[in-house]
Amino acid sequence: MDLAKIRAEYPILDRKIYNRPLVYLDNTATSQTPREVVDSIVSGYTRTKANVHRGVHTLSMEATELQEGARRRVREFINAPSTEEIIFTRGTTEAINLVAASYGGAFFKDGDEIILSVMEHHSNIVPWQLLQQRIDLKIRVIPIREDGSLDMDVYRSLFNERTRFVSVCHASNVLGTVNPVGEIVAEAHAHGVPVLIDGAQAAPHLKIDVQEIGADFYAFSAHKMYGPAGVGVLFGRREMLEKMPPYQGGGEMIESVSFEKTTYAELPYKFEAGTPDFIGIAALHKAIDYMESIGIDNIAAHEHDLLEYTTARMLAEIPGLKIFGTAPGKCAIISFLVDGEHHYDMGMLLDKLGIAVRTGHHCAQPLMTALGIDGTVRASFAVYNTREECDLFLSALKRVSDMLR
Ligand code: PMP
Repeated sequence: MDLAKIRAEYPILDRKIYNRPLVYLDNTATSQTPREVVDSIVSGYTRTKANVHRGVHTLSMEATELQEGARRRVREFINAPSTEEIIFTRGTTEAINLVAASYGGAFFKDGDEIILSVMEHHSNIVPWQLLQQRIDLKIRVIPIREDGSLDMDVYRSLFNERTRFVSVCHASNVLGTVNPVGEIVAEAHAHGVPVLIDGAQAAPHLKIDVQEIGADFYAFSAHKMYGPAGVGVLFGRREMLEKMPPYQGGGEMIESVSFEKTTYAELPYKFEAGTPDFIGIAALHKAIDYMESIGIDNIAAHEHDLLEYTTARMLAEIPGLKIFGTAPGKCAIISFLVDGEHHYDMGMLLDKLGIAVRTGHHCAQPLMTALGIDGTVRASFAVYNTREECDLFLSALKRVSDMLR
């Protein structure tokens, strides 16, 4: 991998923060976007902007083809059986809300139970809690072990005749843990229970094969995959999507409308009400091309190298440092605290030294509660990060930690 060439595609990496080179280690929250993806957005607005699916004119047909080409690319990227099972959303959050509201709203009854894990992002907790306002729904929670891996024995024990759904993340945005999603799905299916996998943290780093995983639903966001913000994907198995009612009503999702009776469009359009971010969707296509041109395995191997290098040095060189999440095979995310030092203070001071890390609860307050903390500092890596940046991060961390001690 030619890192200098890769970095040259990201103008933002040339920025100075407080006169120091930016070291961007907040990739879990969002990754940066290379020029070719940005160029496709510019071209979408300067050359092909027209509303999709409504026009006979050339621009509209071109815009439609860009969007539908992206759908075919996404299908291939996650090895979904068909493009009808690829629904464009605003992101992972909207995808999960869609499933909770549509599937849960239609099929859950009072007394039913669903299974989530303690490491879920709020976006895979709150949509289900919204259902609890109408349905007496019980949420059962899979705990984690010491290393941040899911306790699969407890998971297996949570099923009973009232279990209706399982929704868990593929990879944790705090611990980095990569969950055994195939096993999770197989167990649920053995009980006749459908599964949603939140792939927000997996899609940027792992090869995703939804047929191999076997999940009924799989969700992810473009902005964490070198793509634009405001675009995401929900894969749903046709059999599930067909029996689910629409999530939102409006244009694009209908077959015919009258005040007496409205019928809905075929999949996937039944779930795509209103004008989508068709330019962002086309940019997602470019982002996938970009990732695959480097190779997802190469990206993961590079990030893994940075993870191991940085983890070893942090543990050796920073007294009182504790890392949360040490499961084997974890993603390149380091959540940590240093004895007696507040995560917020550390993040603020690191920023003054040009280092962008995230601090706080990372939208995973139940996990923080389970860990007995109120937040961490989180450094996370992407394809364009370098060992030199890890060195800058480590020396800044030493300085900050000494200052606060
Ligand atoms: N799930 C996980 C595991 C995440 O890390 C995130 C983003 N931090 C989300 C869901 C939500 O993604 P988005 O904000 O793009 O909808």
